[in-house]
Amino acid sequence: MEREIDLKEISDGKLYTSNDMVKAGCDDCRGCSDCCRGMGESILLDPLDICRMTVQMECTFDELLETCVELHVVDGVILPNMKMVGREEQCPFLNQQGRCNIHRIRPGICRLFPLGRCYEEGSFRYFLQTHECKKEPKTKVKIKKWLDTPNLGQYEEFVCQWHYFLKDVQRMLEQVQSEAMVKKVAVYLLEEFYRKPYESETGFYEEFSRRLKEAKKQTGFA
Ligand code: SF4
Ligand code: SF4
Repeated sequence: MEREIDLKEISDGKLYTSNDMVKAGCDDCRGCSDCCRGMGESILLDPLDICRMTVQMECTFDELLETCVELHVVDGVILPNMKMVGREEQCPFLNQQGRCNIHRIRPGICRLFPLGRCYEEGSFRYFLQTHECKKEPKTKVKIKKWLDTPNLGQYEEFVCQWHYFLKDVQRMLEQVQSEAMVKKVAVYLLEEFYRKPYESETGFYEEFSRRLKEAKKQTGFA
């Protein structure tokens, strides 16, 4: 979830790139699943997360909405997040052993935690949230390894493109007076980037670029 925050209060005050080492290693989360519970709407799902889930679980976006995903509105844009369920408000993919049932295709936010992203000047760097993961002792780990994400350069480029495109749209929607128009744009983005099926995980970035190019044209940002 995006927040206006004072980095000094929640982090060690440093900004990192994926080649840096950071004290986040938590012994493979052994015996802990705290960040898979009670997370509210904060596990936001981007188009790559939905591509991975629908392709690997052989289901549609609407089927995910019936079970493990819900929608919420952020500054006029409709975005999906992992739904917390049950008495313990936990992720539906957390199993009885306290492990993730979809580890290989877990969302980007789950790979990142307890790191966050600080966006500035068309790019971003990582920061370490020092109060989020309580497990001790922590070991130093390279961020690149921590993220466990193939083609990291391409992934980071996608993260930037998606973030700054959404920012542009959200700023534009703030100026729009017509509620019907705001809804039309929000529904268009939901359809185009989430509901419309992706053919494969490997072809995602190419497919996303095509969709982004068209969406920029449609929303006037081309
Ligand atoms: S809070 Fe830390 S140790 Fe616990 S599951 Fe999350 S990352 Fe792992
Ligand atoms: S997808 Fe996996 S890692 Fe992410 S919150 Fe759910 S159980 Fe935890």
